[in-house]
Amino acid sequence: MKNNKSNIFQNIKDKIIDSDKFVFLTGAGISKESGIPTFRGPEGLWRKYDPMRLASVSGFYKDPKLVWEFYKYRQELIYNCSPNPGHTSIADFEKIKESSYVLTQNIDGLHEKAGSKNIIELHGNILKVECTECIFKDKIKQRIEEPLPPICNICKNLLRPSVILFGEPLNQEVWEKAEQISNNCDVMFIVGTSLNVGPVNQLPLYAKRNGAILIEVNSEPTIFTELMDYSVQGSATEMLPQLLDIAHK
Ligand code: NAD
Repeated sequence: MKNNKSNIFQNIKDKIIDSDKFVFLTGAGISKESGIPTFRGPEGLWRKYDPMRLASVSGFYKDPKLVWEFYKYRQELIYNCSPNPGHTSIADFEKIKESSYVLTQNIDGLHEKAGSKNIIELHGNILKVECTECIFKDKIKQRIEEPLPPICNICKNLLRPSVILFGEPLNQEVWEKAEQISNNCDVMFIVGTSLNVGPVNQLPLYAKRNGAILIEVNSEPTIFTELMDYSVQGSATEMLPQLLDIAHK
């Protein structure tokens, strides 16, 4: 049954009609056609940049200016990007099936821009900053002002991007909520993620262990494809609108 699209779509239609609780676990692939590069793959950012220097907590404290230059470049790119039909079809789906959640590894805020309401940003949001010492948090207005690294207006310590850097654990409260939602869903769509990054790549296992159907949407097979009940190969921008449209019929 895997990869026979008409069979898959018919089976998924039946499953969607019979189910209430949906999860969309998304990754960098869903935002690729909005103009944001993925990390891995032929044009991925890690082909050009060293993640341990530019996106790790140790790299940040060793050379905050360098890490901030990388994040400022990405913030400016992402600030100007718009959601694509992959993001908007998830937001539309949420209006029909209210018990739907987006658990995203993306830090680009595009699910919110698309109109989704129940979003858990597992790795934070690049368009927000926070102080490394005090409770100050803020949203970025267009761009971070020079000089870098930016300093907290309140306590004069370093500001940092509000994202999980390599070497840091996920926020405990956020993770527990994601675990609970995954344990309780009927259907989990796994969209545009290589599932190389833990602990997030455990969430489909929690869902499956509790009886959920797993549906992968990815332009390529992943290390978890064999575990999926259905695997739809293709771009999220094309496949999600077709797949989720069946919920309207
Ligand atoms: P990844 O780069 O490891 O994998 C991307 C996946 O998307 C691959 O499996 C690839 O086959 C698939 N893909 C590429 N184009 C696609 C398309 N058009 N449609 C469907 N699938 C497509 O990304 P990941 O698994 O999300 O890696 C995790 C880390 O990457 C996260 O920590 C996340 O914060 C970070 N990241 C986020 C963004 C963003 O916010 N947009 C961008 C780059 C990286």
